[in-house]
Amino acid sequence: MVEIGNVEVRDVFKIERIGAHSHIRGLGLKENLEVIDVADGLVGQHAARRAAGVVVKMIKEGRIAGRAVLIAGPPGSGKTAIAMGISKAIGQDTPFVSITASEVYSVDLAKTEALMQAFRKAIGIRIKEETEVLEGEVVMVEIDRPASGLGPKVGKLTLKTTDMEAIYDLGSKMAENVIKEKVTAGDVIQIDKGSGRINKVGRSIAKTHDYDAMGPQMKFVACPDGEIQKRIENVNTISLHDIDVINSRTHGYLAVFSGDTGEIKGEVREQINKKVLEWREENKAQIVPGVLFIDEAHMLDLECFSFLNRAIEADLSPILILATNKGFVQIRGTTLKSAHGIPFDLLDRALIVRTHPYTENDQREILKIRAMEESVELEDTALEILVKITSTTSLRYGMQLISTADVLRQRRKGEKVSVEDLKKVYKAFYDVKRAQNYLKQHEDLFIT
Ligand code: ATP
Repeated sequence: MVEIGNVEVRDVFKIERIGAHSHIRGLGLKENLEVIDVADGLVGQHAARRAAGVVVKMIKEGRIAGRAVLIAGPPGSGKTAIAMGISKAIGQDTPFVSITASEVYSVDLAKTEALMQAFRKAIGIRIKEETEVLEGEVVMVEIDRPASGLGPKVGKLTLKTTDMEAIYDLGSKMAENVIKEKVTAGDVIQIDKGSGRINKVGRSIAKTHDYDAMGPQMKFVACPDGEIQKRIENVNTISLHDIDVINSRTHGYLAVFSGDTGEIKGEVREQINKKVLEWREENKAQIVPGVLFIDEAHMLDLECFSFLNRAIEADLSPILILATNKGFVQIRGTTLKSAHGIPFDLLDRALIVRTHPYTENDQREILKIRAMEESVELEDTALEILVKITSTTSLRYGMQLISTADVLRQRRKGEKVSVEDLKKVYKAFYDVKRAQNYLKQHEDLFIT
């Protein structure tokens, strides 16, 4: 804490949430899909990772439409981690939407509408736009700041192309862009004539000026070669769901930001599908099927499953990845039992990937990766104790102890988490088994 005058100013710590899967950067596979035991943040689980690699290959080659993938395995065995790995491996531009099945039961939306919206969020539309761009070398930049230092900045930019030298009046927005991009004489820039956006694309002479430091009227003169006006293709990716919302008259485009999209009419979607398919024919747009990941798939009911069965057959469909940790259970809302609580016809079409319980060695490696991700150092003996605790409780519980024990380490100003720190947090926080045992022993104390 520092004191300025009579005012106390508190240091503000940046609080970063480290997500449970933030350590996962891919599937950790070689080009030939061979598994590297510990890579891209993933450990072990070889068969499932190899299968996931095949899925990614099929996605990239556009050969997986009309199919679903089911990742099935015990709790904490890395189903979501592998789905994350798939999302990372298919690349930035491919949409990946992740929901939990129980999210479809909301008061605001019908279940099938919630599923439909999730489906369409997972389909990207790459739209090509042609814009006119003027490219040339900057001869002179003048930015006028009002004497008060307040109000918008305006200015002039002299640009030389191969056949002319032109002076542009800069409105406040473009003047801001010039400042933001640190445009100086000698820079080769592109001005997007539609949006006024300015991009620096190179420099022909080495001459820089810090015009912010130079005060109001700044002038730069240079003698460059120039380039001529060009047409440039911009590509923007937007989800099919966003196009639905923008075109849905009842909601308006602002609903894209609020997320409060409500129900979207079937006719709107039909028209959009038609339009998008037309754009594809005319080569104006490309359809990018992404991935829809639904965790806890056993929470879906028959109505949802028949929706999914139909939806994956549609022309515009993402790849559906379901995950569940349930064995042979009732399909929700029925008396029928089925493997993983999923109806046979959907199971029959799914590529089923299994995850298995971890060995102690795998758990050790995962805990080490998580500790590193959270910038926590553990003494060697503490790590071994943590592995033992994890093998009798769960991987998730073991991971919780890393961050909680580190709080104690900080308080005692130690360098590394010690066995003592771990013992204390193990006593303070119950794992599921101990919580259940406690309940059994003290049932009379609780309201039933
Ligand atoms: P559940 O059935 O309870 O939903 P899950 O099978 O989806 O569990 P995850 O949530 O993927 O399990 O795993 C629990 C934690 O362990 C997560 O933080 C995950 O990132 C991590 N994890 C699991 N498997 C691996 C692995 N093979 N490599 C690295 N981290 C892993």
